[in-house]
Amino acid sequence: MIAYLKESLAKTPREPLGFFPTPFHRLERLSDLLGIHLYIKRDDFTGVSLFGGNKVRKLEFLIGDAIQNSYDTIITFGATQSNHVMETITACCKSGLKAIAYLEDLVDTSKDDLKGNLLLDTILGAEIHIVSDPDGNAMEKLYEMAHARAQALNAEGHKCYLIPIGGASDVGTIGYISGYMELRSQLEAAGISPDYLFTTTGSGGTLAGLLAGHAVCKDNFNIIAITAEDKPETYEAHVNTLAERALFALDINMTIEGKECTIDRGYFGEGYEIPSEAASEAIRLLAQTEGIFTDPVYTGKCFAGLIDYVKTGKIPQGSHVVFLHTGGTTALFAESKIIGSLAL
Ligand SMILES: *Cc1c(COP(=O)(O)O)cnc(C)c1O
Repeated sequence: MIAYLKESLAKTPREPLGFFPTPFHRLERLSDLLGIHLYIKRDDFTGVSLFGGNKVRKLEFLIGDAIQNSYDTIITFGATQSNHVMETITACCKSGLKAIAYLEDLVDTSKDDLKGNLLLDTILGAEIHIVSDPDGNAMEKLYEMAHARAQALNAEGHKCYLIPIGGASDVGTIGYISGYMELRSQLEAAGISPDYLFTTTGSGGTLAGLLAGHAVCKDNFNIIAITAEDKPETYEAHVNTLAERALFALDINMTIEGKECTIDRGYFGEGYEIPSEAASEAIRLLAQTEGIFTDPVYTGKCFAGLIDYVKTGKIPQGSHVVFLHTGGTTALFAESKIIGSLAL
């Protein structure tokens, strides 16, 4: 089955965008401090630019699919500080595709003082539409606008490819099946058999890809996914289905139950893009002991969860733990509402 998966992956259209394999290494000082064997997978180093992250893996397959099917325009969605949107626009620039972004303003963007990813989106020259809607209907409005724009462009002879939030389609998820196989060969080469893999989860594509790879390889370590926001009860089933669909696209028919996966809703604090004190502390700790930056929206909250699992004994001392760094550090240069007490 593993050989078949590898063959299937190799046959799937893929646009080379990033730098792979990303580094994998031990965190010496933090391992000593926490009493575990702690390793980090550096998907903050995926490229294309200095500001990489997990979406680049998905985009290699999404853009590959778009190019294979002769699309010339990519339309996607997210918050104004979305890493996914910035990485998608970057991928479009590199691939010669037109990029259109529909963004929800969660933090009251100031037009004459652009920050973080929105600044990068602007430098990259994307067509940007921003909607803020205090009633919480912004996404619906954005989808409507995007579909109307796509229809108009298609009528002019263009071909528009819509990428969902976070790139979490079956095609995008294949990127993290591939990422899982990459991590697995690094673990094997280093002779490490992990007990836990920590990741953060948002749209679910990254986790679904990891779960799919984990199931095909019949690995049995635990995957702990810390959510970046509250998630409905149906989220587990959603992720499992996404994993199944991605495998199906690779011609593998398999039921994913996610038995060895825990989706933990305990560390997002008050919500998406709202800073938490535990995350700020975790960000400072990782920076001050290892010189590595995490972000207040995703990876900082995940790392706060990891530290808490160790401190409360949910993870025994001496365990082998892998932390998947999914990127997102441009949020450190976002609006002060997002960075919170880190600036103090
Ligand atoms: C998007 C994102 C995630 C979540 O990944 P999903 O595949 O959407 O679940 C995690 N970390 C960072 C930095 C992200 O940008």
